[in-house]
Amino acid sequence: MIQAKGGQAPSQARHPLSVVMSQIPDAAFETEEQHVGEVKQQSTVVASHVASHVAPQMARAKGSQHLSLARHSLSVALSATSNAIEERAVQLIKQPVPKIFHLGMFEIGRPLGKGKFGRVYLARERETGFVCALKVLHKDEIQQGKIEKQVAREIEIQSNLRHPNILRLYGHFHDRKRIFLILEYAGKGELYKHLQKADRFPGWKAAQYIAQMASALRYLHHKHVIHRDIKPEDILVGLHGELKMSDFGWSVHAPSGRRLTKCGTLDYLPPEMVDPKRCEKPYDEKVDLWSLGVLMYEFLVGQAPFEDTPVMTQRRIAKGDMTIPSFVSSEAKDLIRKVSSS
Ligand code: AMP
Repeated sequence: MIQAKGGQAPSQARHPLSVVMSQIPDAAFETEEQHVGEVKQQSTVVASHVASHVAPQMARAKGSQHLSLARHSLSVALSATSNAIEERAVQLIKQPVPKIFHLGMFEIGRPLGKGKFGRVYLARERETGFVCALKVLHKDEIQQGKIEKQVAREIEIQSNLRHPNILRLYGHFHDRKRIFLILEYAGKGELYKHLQKADRFPGWKAAQYIAQMASALRYLHHKHVIHRDIKPEDILVGLHGELKMSDFGWSVHAPSGRRLTKCGTLDYLPPEMVDPKRCEKPYDEKVDLWSLGVLMYEFLVGQAPFEDTPVMTQRRIAKGDMTIPSFVSSEAKDLIRKVSSS
């Protein structure tokens, strides 16, 4: 991940707006000015409530150099309850004209991180002051990686999800070379880093986190979406410490029942996806429940239960060969086993 320029200390990272605009834009934005006109013409019409409905809360920050006010507005927006989210969703449906986005509408801040196919920047919509994360994907890299369908599916699925523990995708637009995803900003970064720092989470924290992920999964499965790649690296943490499931690159709609494609990250795959005797058979939403058990294990123990060489991991998953250390409570052990065998 790219660190904030000038060695931003964590405390500064907690006040992201203090570096918005003060950073020299990354190479991805070198030609921002010359692209703006071009982008304006090419930008895709996307349904988003950023400007019309979430943003009014942020409008007080508009045009203001008063960062404390902007920060206050940000926390107001971020502390919205799930009820408020529901309300905004209703407003979104009522919205008569979908908003057309382009790069010139955003101020670009510090880099938040780098993924396999793009970089993510802190950004603020100029008109409203709404703070978000802007993910920049390069079209040629997407083509080279042959992930066009994956990206299209990720956008289609994630933009339709509304849950407090699922990262919002507010909208997207593109220019000749790049695709931009307007994402909810997860102020406390990657869960993986928190886990690495803590070594392992205490039971109470693991319980809270698993409850949040279970709630997100229940919502997804109710909408017939299978995530298929749940792991700490794909979970972000919001400003209030709440988890945000992200990265829907491997997710699918499962309207017609059971699926055959093999995907996801080996450590988190269930037996039906790794066992050669069973992987010809289709699988369903339960693959996510298996991953939830693996996640619970990793939260409590500090490493995944089947971590080994790839061949051995595959064998151990197929046999359900895991040892749960004695410091894990008997209730947690029971739950890990039950989720994995459901
Ligand atoms: P990705 O390409 O989605 O894997 O993102 C690369 C990195 O950028 C992640 O590992 C995070 O550190 C950071 N990042 C991505 N999306 C966000 C977001 N919405 N809020 C904060 N940081 C993010």
